[in-house]
Amino acid sequence: MSRTRSRVLIVGAGFAGYRAARMLTRVARRSADVTLLNPTDYFLYLPLLPQVAAGTLEPRRVTVSLSGTLPHARLVLGEADGVDLEARTVSYRGPEGGRGVLEYDRLVLAVGSVNKLLPVPGVAEHAHGFRGLPEALYLRDHVTRQIELAAAAETPQDCRARCTFVVVGAGYTGTEVAAQGQLLTDALVKKRPLRDGIRPRWMLLDVAPRVLPELDERLSRTSDKVLRGRGVEVRTGTSVKEATDDGVLLDDGEFVDTRTVVWCVGVRPDPLVAGLGRPLERGRLLVDPYLNVPSHPEVFACGDAAAVPDLDKPGRYTAMTAQHAWRQGRVAGLNVAASLGYGERRSYRHRDLGFTVDLGGAQAAANPLGIHLSGPLAGAVTRGYHLAAMPGNRIRVAADWLLDAVLPRQAVQLGLVRSWSVPLDTASPELARVPDSAPDQHHGGTP
Ligand SMILES: Cc1cc2nc3c(=O)[nH]c(=O)nc-3n(C[C@H](O)[C@H](O)[C@H](O)COP(=O)(O)OP(=O)(O)OC[C@H]3O[C@@H](n4cnc5c(N)ncnc54)[C@H](O)[C@@H]3O)c2cc1C
Repeated sequence: MSRTRSRVLIVGAGFAGYRAARMLTRVARRSADVTLLNPTDYFLYLPLLPQVAAGTLEPRRVTVSLSGTLPHARLVLGEADGVDLEARTVSYRGPEGGRGVLEYDRLVLAVGSVNKLLPVPGVAEHAHGFRGLPEALYLRDHVTRQIELAAAAETPQDCRARCTFVVVGAGYTGTEVAAQGQLLTDALVKKRPLRDGIRPRWMLLDVAPRVLPELDERLSRTSDKVLRGRGVEVRTGTSVKEATDDGVLLDDGEFVDTRTVVWCVGVRPDPLVAGLGRPLERGRLLVDPYLNVPSHPEVFACGDAAAVPDLDKPGRYTAMTAQHAWRQGRVAGLNVAASLGYGERRSYRHRDLGFTVDLGGAQAAANPLGIHLSGPLAGAVTRGYHLAAMPGNRIRVAADWLLDAVLPRQAVQLGLVRSWSVPLDTASPELARVPDSAPDQHHGGTP
């Protein structure tokens, strides 16, 4: 008699969900039907997103086709908006607004995180986040447009405001965005200098006393030096008090005229997990070291959305990084397989392998296996690391890097992603909002 096939549902196909699906379809596909629910048909390699905004990489380079690389998983396009743990169902909204319900025997929640908001007046209206491909595309176009408008500005004041770019938050995202942004705008004005010798001005703010406050101090020092050497104004111990149409008011009383505020103050777990009614740790779904949700052995969670105990640092939880999410995805996949009778379950334990911060050009800061590197060597290690870590598209990425090294960047803005379609306050940074959608309804595509 043939054994009934188990239904495994993975919600979210980022670092954790993608890896879990890959493991499961390798290990247990003889007895499990693996379904992947994700709003986009691709896995997004987020660490290279600043390079999309800077025009070094074309957007499709940082995506990896789900159906192309996970042929044994069934892809359902949609966003989960409800989980019924008792009925073992997940409800979702499809890309064209239709609704559906998926049943499961095993569930893996890997929905990642969204932009973190702070109660600063005007920020939700005037700032943009940096958590998804639409935001990166928007930023590239917006920055290019500001430089073009600055070139045609009638007054020096207008010119200065348009080519002033404020990045709030000097974690790895903000640091990379500012570092790469300054290179982009310098390249844009090189052929056509701005009036009165005005130079694009990038400011990087953080309340912390140093850039990359959560990383090793040596990475911080190297990045600070590269940023300042490039002309980025690094303002530590500084924050934004208010954002308006015309600029930002800093907490030291200075008003900065600008049309660009990039909000990189961090991320918070996807709000879907808060709706489960299970214990949370700072918004992340609490799991045990086996990535199981307590009292629900059939439910697993991993990645940014899960609070996974850090077995090397008792009492603490693993950081929200791709490194952890990728490895937790593997363990989640193996443990789901174990629960179906394939192999033994295992607890999650991983020591940091170091971090890389790509600062654009040949510059980077990196500490692989604790060895501190800077300059072109760090740049080469960083790019090599990304190529090795990407689950696909490596040749295209390498080709773009090569082309960028020998050709000037394309100074055009397509204007396909508009400001209103990438609001800061969204549960779906991976999708651009469309004009005729209901207030809480988004779907992909351009207006
Ligand atoms: C710009 C940037 C640069 C970064 N650089 C680094 C770096 O250099 N090194 C590093 O270690 N970390 C880096 N990170 C952090 C890292 O990307 C995250 O920690 C990692 O992506 C978390 O993996 P995840 O699988 O939990 O979430 P994600 O990779 O974000 O995947 C979540 C998936 O769930 C989907 N999803 C969301 N909501 C729903 C829903 N309701 N229903 C269905 N699907 C849903 C999303 O579309 C997405 O596909 C960076 C992050 C950003 C934003």
